[in-house]
Amino acid sequence: MAEPQEPGSSSLLAAARRAHEEAFGGAAVLAAWAPGRVNLIGEHTDYNDGFVLPMALQLGTVLVGSPTQDNTISIVTSSAEADEPHKVQFPAPRPNSPLSPGLPRWANYVKGVIQHYRGGPVPGFTAVVASNVPLGGGLSSSASLEVATYTFLQQLCPDDGDLVAKALACQKAEHTFAGMPCGIMDQFISVMGQEGHALLIDCRSLETVLVPLSDASLAVLITNSNVRHTLTGSEYPTRRRQCEEAAAALGKASLRDATLPELEEARSSLGDEVFRRARHVIGEIARTSQAAQALQNKDYKTFGKLMVESHNSLRDDFEVSCPELDELVAAALEVKGVYGSRMTGGGFGGCTVTLLEAEAAAKAQKHIQEKYSGTATFYLTKPSAGAKALPL
Ligand code: ADP
Ligand code: MG
Repeated sequence: MAEPQEPGSSSLLAAARRAHEEAFGGAAVLAAWAPGRVNLIGEHTDYNDGFVLPMALQLGTVLVGSPTQDNTISIVTSSAEADEPHKVQFPAPRPNSPLSPGLPRWANYVKGVIQHYRGGPVPGFTAVVASNVPLGGGLSSSASLEVATYTFLQQLCPDDGDLVAKALACQKAEHTFAGMPCGIMDQFISVMGQEGHALLIDCRSLETVLVPLSDASLAVLITNSNVRHTLTGSEYPTRRRQCEEAAAALGKASLRDATLPELEEARSSLGDEVFRRARHVIGEIARTSQAAQALQNKDYKTFGKLMVESHNSLRDDFEVSCPELDELVAAALEVKGVYGSRMTGGGFGGCTVTLLEAEAAAKAQKHIQEKYSGTATFYLTKPSAGAKALPL
């Protein structure tokens, strides 16, 4: 049974330091930590200029390392995908010889951040990456790796310390080196998370508002379905395109500016699928502001109801859920003391997030596992702090 965890950085840090000695024959002198995240509500709204409401996790990524005298960057990870080598080596970038993406794929997240780093020039260094965020589980192992890398570089060759620019540089790394046209949520929360708070992010203005979430009687339970349906890889870009198409048809810069009555009016000209995609986004943006307000008021019932509406909309209108996630949500909602539950992250597998009374957490995990046709992993978590340098 998962218990509330200690900040993940301490044991991970020890393992990463040992691995650095083994791999490079010398001690790491610098270390950085960046958390993964769970999004409480506001799914597929970030690239539509909408609101998102994530919190940083106690799970995250540690990067330890040391500068070297040569111009070479050598990095080892303890958790690559099964088909990939764990070590990579390449020359530090220079203006006339920038880095470019390649193989192994995981190294692109690191290379992209080095290339888009705002301090520098980045010298040669050795580093070990250690993470306890499940890869591809929807808890943003990718942003946690990017932000940990950036935070490490800030100690190696400081930049100006601008937090928004840091998050944007990490997002750019994911766009240009990992080929994933993600929104800003994952990098923002990994950089700016605060203990005991969720973070309402306005993805248009980039303004952020901390929303307290530290009630001891409350718990956030993440359930990993441990499935990841490999689709064609085009699902995410297709959803983005459909949202843009809907916004253009409505004469709006983005779906943030559209209302449900306006969408209804344009229904016949949109086609059913694009109409439903837009209905999800417009509804979800409104739900997310309402949810932040409910949290502010400690109105957990309303928050939970909005979570369930969000899940149903992702399942029926945006069509990014899957039977496993639907099962997990349905099982969670059968437990007394559960306020709400929904799929979280991009979809097609990964995790659900459940808001519940802390007292109900053990019972909920037992019930969900009994009802689930697969094997679930649970993380009982609380809102944690964003990225930081770790003193060695
Ligand atoms: P998510 O961010 O939801 O976990 P993504 O598909 O966006 O899923 O990112 C997962 C990818 O990020 C992995 O396939 C891997 O390439 C890379 N990655 C994340 N963390 C690590 C790590 N600690 N070591 C190596 N690669 C990592
Ligand atoms: Mg990711």
